[in-house]
Parts: sequence; C-alpha cells; structure tokens
Amino acid sequence: MKDDFGRDIYYLRLSVTDLCNLRCVYCMPEEGVGKRCHSDILSVEEIEEIVRAAVDCGIRKIRVTGGEPLVRKGIIEICRRIAAIPDVQELCITTNGTLLPQYASQLREAGVSRLNISLDTLDGDKYTTITRGGSLKDILVGIDAALEAGFDNIKINTVLMGGVNDAEIPAMVALTRKNINVRFIELMPIGECAGWSKDRFISNSKVLEMAPELSEVGSSGVARLYRLPGADGTVGLISPISSHFCPTCNRIRVTSDGKLKPCLHSSDEVNLRGLHGQALVDTIRNAVRIKPKQHHLDEDSRSGSIRNMNEIGG
Ligand code: SAM
Ligand code: SF4
Repeated sequence: MKDDFGRDIYYLRLSVTDLCNLRCVYCMPEEGVGKRCHSDILSVEEIEEIVRAAVDCGIRKIRVTGGEPLVRKGIIEICRRIAAIPDVQELCITTNGTLLPQYASQLREAGVSRLNISLDTLDGDKYTTITRGGSLKDILVGIDAALEAGFDNIKINTVLMGGVNDAEIPAMVALTRKNINVRFIELMPIGECAGWSKDRFISNSKVLEMAPELSEVGSSGVARLYRLPGADGTVGLISPISSHFCPTCNRIRVTSDGKLKPCLHSSDEVNLRGLHGQALVDTIRNAVRIKPKQHHLDEDSRSGSIRNMNEIGG
C-alpha cells in the first residue's frame, strides 16, 4: 500500500499490551501503569480481524510488541492466528527476553519467524538499574532458550544512553562474533525520557568511533549494517535522531487499545475498534494517507506523541 508520498507501507508494529514485567527508566513510569479492564484492550479476535484487514491493504510483515508481549494472556494464540493469515510473510516479536524460557518453543511452533531481544548492558548491576529490578541472568537464560528453540538470526536491541552504557559499545559489538546481530538504537525523547538531559542523547556515530574496525555492508529496513572482520553477525545502526529515515519509512503502528498511529512521533491516532469488513479496511487505508512526510524530532525537541513508549511498542 502506497502512502501519499509514494512510500510502500508493508510493516505493522502491533502492540498487544502496555503492561510489562520490567520498568526500563526511559520507557515506563517507575510505578508501572494501572491495570486496564480486560475490555479496554483488543481481544484476540479483534487483533486477528485488524491484522487481516491490514494484510488486505498490503501489510506483509507484522511485529508483535508491547509493553512486554509475553505477559499478554493468549500471546501464543495471537501469534498462531497471525501466522496463519495468508500473505503474512514475516511474524516477529520484540521482547525483553525474560519469559523466553517459558515461551520460546511455543512461539516457534506458533509460527514466529524471528526475535528481537532488548538488552542495553552486559553489566548485571547496571541492567538492574536500567530495568529497575530486572536480572541480567534471566535474559541471558532467555537468549539461550531462544537459540535452543531453533530461532536463528536473533537481534539484540540496545538503546544507547550517554554516560550510562556507551562505554560498553565494544563489548556489545563483540557479540556479533558469536553469530548474534546487534542493533544500536538512538534514544528518542518520548514519554518518560523526553525531559532527560541532552548528554544522555548520543548519536550512533559514537559506535563507529568506538569500533573503527566495523565496515559498512549495506542496509536492512531502517538500519545501516556493519560487520567486524570475520564476524558472522552484523551491527545495525538505527538512527532516528541523527539521520531521519522518514523518506524510507515503511510502517504503521496499532496500540493495544486499537488506535492506529500513522507516525511514531505524531499525536495523530485513528480508532479501529468497533469497525468491521470494508469499513475497517477503508479506515486503515485513509489513516495511511495522513501519514506525515517526516517527523520533526532532533536532539533539541521532544516527540509529538502523547504516549509513553510502553504504550506504543517502539
Ligand atoms: N518489552 C519489549 C522490549 O523491551 O523489547 C517490547 C516493547 S519496547 C517498548 C520496544 C523497544 O523500544 C525496546 O527495544 C526498547 O528498548 C525501545 N525503546 C523504549 N523506549 C525508547 C526510547 N525512548 N528511545 C528508543 N528506544 C526505546
Ligand atoms: Fe518493558 Fe520493553 Fe519498556 Fe523495558 S523497554 S519497560 S522491557 S516495554
């Protein structure tokens, strides 16, 4: 499906919950979020109906996210139903990894093709501080469980924060020698971290300064890809602040309460709940038509989105 600027929109990021078992400092309020009524979030049936309509419009890749998608009741059924929709070419999940020992094999059997696992540090104390209480051991066990379940091409997502984890860039890059892909994501001033001091927001160019042996090998979606000599895995740089990728944006987002967000950094939302059949398809198509040409986010401004990241899904 083309938007009004000729961009091919084929990627849906679908949030299935805004709850999470961690409280990452840049994403969630310390006190968490109030539990919603069951009826406030999309049911498994509503999710399937929305995804089917989006696929009718031309969506081919779905990423299930959250909050933490693996705390959502019925997550395996959600994945099974999405994977069974003809024309869904790729079903991925972004997870904090902590519940993978319990779910990795079931996700694989349900038809999930790839996993992105968020990990900002390899230092146990720092991990506990960033996630406000999480245990690094849990996520390392989770990564092992995913490998054992047969997931390959696992990507680690690392959000860089100046003065917090940037000294670990070489250690994170070295993970690519173990056939793990690492994606560095620039911290975006949205929700919880919108008011943080400027020195926390660092450009991904720091990765290339601290790991000069990386050489560019191409691109994948919005990531520029690099490789260490002889390494199996790649390093990806996702740079929404220092290098806007809006001209090649290919995605829309749906929140767990059924709002379509044409752009991550805009407050525009289009309700999908209660719509069926052609009305649902038409509403998705029209929402894509109001996708802005670009966002206006840089290190001096905050996102126009009114939601925290746990309510959007990254
Ligand atoms: N709970 C899952 C996880 O952590 O992978 C999925 C949801 S989380 C909101 C999705 C991604 O958004 C994570 O990789 C997280 O690090 C990233 N994220 C959250 N807040 C961010 C921010 N302000 N800037 C950049 N990335 C952010
Ligand atoms: Fe939870 Fe993911 Fe947000 Fe961390 S980044 S608080 S794991 S939703």
